[in-house]
Amino acid sequence: IKKIAVFTSGGDSPGMNAAIRSVVRTCAYLKVECLAIYRGYQGMIEGDFVPMDARSVNNIINKGGTILKSARCDEFRTKEGRQKAYDQLVAADVDAFVVIGGDGSFRGAQIFNEEFGFPVMGIPGTIDNDIFGTRFTLGFDTALNTVVEAIDKIRDTASSHNRLFFVEVMGRDVGHIALNAGVGAGAEEVLIPELDLGLERLLESLKRSKKSGKSSSIVVVAEGDKTGKNVFELKEYVESHLPIYDVRVSVLGHMQRGGSPSCFDRVLASRMGVKAVETLLEGKSNLMVGIIDNEIVLTPISEAIKGHTKIDHELIRVSDIMTT
Ligand code: ADP
Repeated sequence: IKKIAVFTSGGDSPGMNAAIRSVVRTCAYLKVECLAIYRGYQGMIEGDFVPMDARSVNNIINKGGTILKSARCDEFRTKEGRQKAYDQLVAADVDAFVVIGGDGSFRGAQIFNEEFGFPVMGIPGTIDNDIFGTRFTLGFDTALNTVVEAIDKIRDTASSHNRLFFVEVMGRDVGHIALNAGVGAGAEEVLIPELDLGLERLLESLKRSKKSGKSSSIVVVAEGDKTGKNVFELKEYVESHLPIYDVRVSVLGHMQRGGSPSCFDRVLASRMGVKAVETLLEGKSNLMVGIIDNEIVLTPISEAIKGHTKIDHELIRVSDIMTT
């Protein structure tokens, strides 16, 4: 392998730039050529490439988003689209690629690998932490810090007015952000897709806390929560069943995906980038780099896209105890 391409794809996350930097610098260190692809698979199909050297990635480790831009690309879902992408890579003498993205991007990489025997490596970049084979995805830690900071601010205004806030956080169909940020921000209750606590329990918990003298409350709700009600419906439900609260809703939204990456995400990205390039040079392919028990580990992409890292039941217990 003499030339490796790197790109970001799907939803962006903080830490992607640190991963790009790591891949580029590792290539330079190991004297392998490196090419960046703009706009994910779309740019691959269009041949939107630029050569990278160690200096191309100066001053990006601290930046949120991705300097290479990200995109969703329907054409890559077709055989013809992938053929075009392959032809572009061959024309540019690219021997392998590193994709930084989520499970959709990995699925695309896997199909591409199967069709053309092209070596691919994945680095998990998503704030949702919803990929199997890694305890942490890039951007998750930063997003948690962002969410906790936001909830701290909401708490200030909640307690000034004796209000109950439902705060909706991202996470698609997993509750990692909700549970961790809920514990970190001292939420009254956390509603996650993995565990249907039921609305009765929520009412009981809110009644209890009001009785015990709490003046305000924060309930963190994962976007994929399974109560069957979104945050606005939850507000109505609680207001009609428990008229003792003045209820407000805050949907944090895309601010959770932005911002300068935390030190944890920068370090993780740096480690993952090194491992991705080294693994390709060892002749391996179709693997995702992850971190488990603070070891950098490899998981077949086919497995990584099958499931999620399981929610931490010990943390659910801690959350329960803390809301007593
Ligand atoms: P993420 O990587 O964040 O999960 P997406 O699910 O949008 O984001 O996937 C990113 C891109 O990966 C898609 O726009 C598409 O180009 C490619 N992709 C996703 N799934 C497939 C698939 N089954 N076959 C081919 N390409 C795919």
